[in-house]
Amino acid sequence: MIRYDLVCGNGHAFRAWFSSSEAFEHQREEGLVSCPVCGDSRVERQITAPAIPAKGNRRKDEALQVSSSASPAGDDAAQHARLMRQFVREVHAMVRERAEYVGQRFVEEARRRHSEGAVQDQPIWGEATAEDARELREEGIDVVPLPPLPDDRN
Ligand SMILES: [Zn+2]
Repeated sequence: MIRYDLVCGNGHAFRAWFSSSEAFEHQREEGLVSCPVCGDSRVERQITAPAIPAKGNRRKDEALQVSSSASPAGDDAAQHARLMRQFVREVHAMVRERAEYVGQRFVEEARRRHSEGAVQDQPIWGEATAEDARELREEGIDVVPLPPLPDDRN
């Protein structure tokens, strides 16, 4: 079973379990996955922790949106998945190189640096929940979700 953090077209975040990623994609395409709050079946995967604040770094934002796009079917899907894993590794490598890891202190560090105006110069990354990320965004702190590092089981 795989747990997915999902978000509906109206922005409600929720969690659901699927037997496999294929099962999730299939059910989603059939409109069988719907938001428990409003019933919307326009459901996307929400990539959660770890996260990095990226004030003034829109390029990474765009790149990360690519990673959450739906996979094409068949052989293309395997190819897509391979490219995605490679992409995610590169993002992680870049983040590790550029940003300071603050682990569980991410939320407090992000707030502190934001209040000091230091986010731009000293990017950080660490652990945050989708909820934390949303609260930070509401406070005007840009947080970019980082896709989980892929394992190599397939
Ligand atoms: Zn909803």
